[in-house]
Amino acid sequence: MFESWDIGRSGDCCARCAAEFPQGRAFFSALSEHQGEMSRTDFCPDCWEDLCAEGRGFFCFWRTRRAVAHDRPQVDAQEMLELLDRLDRPTDDLQKAILRFVLALYLVRRKELKLVGAGGTGQQETLLLEKRSSGERVEVHNPHLTEGQMQAAAAQLNLAFGLKAEA
Ligand SMILES: [Zn+2]
Repeated sequence: MFESWDIGRSGDCCARCAAEFPQGRAFFSALSEHQGEMSRTDFCPDCWEDLCAEGRGFFCFWRTRRAVAHDRPQVDAQEMLELLDRLDRPTDDLQKAILRFVLALYLVRRKELKLVGAGGTGQQETLLLEKRSSGERVEVHNPHLTEGQMQAAAAQLNLAFGLKAEA
């Protein structure tokens, strides 16, 4: 299923009203799933409110803001921590569990999260992580991915956040 994900990087304007996002201002990003394919769409706060009022459902969403040129790396980390919270405890949804797990590993590599323990075994295994910024603890289910699933999910994260590939 992840082979067909195609999440575009963040745009600079609202997908609904086409208003440009001012630098440093908040907007919303949402992932939608259609027949196994993922796409990312960005909305200004006003349109996002309208969509929520209309009861429009998304696979997941997070609040972000348009980068000011010099602070891009920090914005990435905040955006990712926000998405991690949004994907909280997705025990009944494998796609969310995979995305959350790969996102957590990436944040560990970025030193935004620290591994402080593990619990459970087999399919019930969880990692216990701590946010560097707040000390808040986060539990992440380990979905025991194949190498191929890992790489596909990591590639999607890179696309979603406009990251450069890292070793
Ligand atoms: Zn809009």
